[in-house]
Amino acid sequence: MAKIVVIPGDGIGEEITRSAVEVLKAADKKYSLNLEYEFHDAGGTAYDKFGTPLPEETLEACKAADAVLFGAVGGDKWDNVDPALRPEKAILGLRKGLGLYANLRPVKVAEALVEYSPLKPELAKGVDLVIVRELVGGIYFGERCESEMHEGAERAWDLENYSVPEVERIVKLACETAKLRRGKLTSVDKANVLATSRLWRRTAAKVAEGYPEVELKNLYVDNCAMQLAINPAQFDVIVTGNLFGDILSDEAAVVGGSIGMLPSASIGTSTSLYEPIHGSAPDIAGKGIANPMGTILSAAMLLRYSLHEEEAAKAIEAAVEKVLEEGWRTADLWKEGFKKANTEEITREISQRV
Ligand code: NAD
Repeated sequence: MAKIVVIPGDGIGEEITRSAVEVLKAADKKYSLNLEYEFHDAGGTAYDKFGTPLPEETLEACKAADAVLFGAVGGDKWDNVDPALRPEKAILGLRKGLGLYANLRPVKVAEALVEYSPLKPELAKGVDLVIVRELVGGIYFGERCESEMHEGAERAWDLENYSVPEVERIVKLACETAKLRRGKLTSVDKANVLATSRLWRRTAAKVAEGYPEVELKNLYVDNCAMQLAINPAQFDVIVTGNLFGDILSDEAAVVGGSIGMLPSASIGTSTSLYEPIHGSAPDIAGKGIANPMGTILSAAMLLRYSLHEEEAAKAIEAAVEKVLEEGWRTADLWKEGFKKANTEEITREISQRV
């Protein structure tokens, strides 16, 4: 038995997590996964009920679970609450509480959705990559100074630092990820300028020696940003630090052309958390038209990375592709000539094909 904590959150969170659970149940039926679900509050909904965006009970349940499926949090309704209690604080609390040290962002352009990419179809076709971003170190967590006087001028600074164990941990995870895929790993840094990048590059090379089936290449971050725009299909797994990963993962996300399609995983020291990359979409919440596929694909990642149920994960991914090939589209993707489906309908079509 595996216990999944489901956190719907706010806005469309409830609709999209309900869809993902329905698809997981279809996969459970077929592959005898023996999954059990426990629902908990976080975000604005939790703030309204308990006065905090991340109740202790939610965090404790996540710690005790095998995996967490997360919808989204936030919305205008909570714009004026105390900044320390804003819905988005739930995400930071979960990151800290679960030790979520790595973010995995796959970008796979489904054959049927190539035309939605802002890139030329021949460039978007066949893109299937994962960005592995370090999430708890680097310049975002280094010392900083907001303002000081130096030689007569005001200045500010932020300190980037990485330790060998921090780099080892993330590169190992990236090697394991590459092993499950096409075995190509690109480590991205700025080793021609930064000392932290040179330590990163040395450490990555040492870690990769332990993975003879993985081919490691190094790329400077500026070149990587260019390559993502001119030839994204060359990449399999990209591993990088917190700052570069933040920027590159958003650049890579637009290659797919639709925010509603993209899943993500945040890997923790014990429990990992899976969520779509988009927010709570308050503008369409409650209308039943949200695209649940990013969350459904996050559930597939949950099966792959937390429960090691590769076959069931692949079945869900294949079902999503099949539904798209057959011309089903949610409102965000719909064009003349396609079959329009609301959240419930697309979920049913996917579940039937798992
Ligand atoms: P958003 O991702 O919620 O929405 C951006 C646009 O994309 C909207 O027009 C929305 O309708 C559309 N969209 C997003 N997901 C969709 C889906 N599954 N199907 C169809 N259309 C979809 O970003 P935003 O509007 O900047 O933020 C809204 C709220 O979400 C804010 O409070 C923000 O802080 C929060 N947020 C939360 C997370 C998270 O929970 N991880 C991430 C980003 C933003």
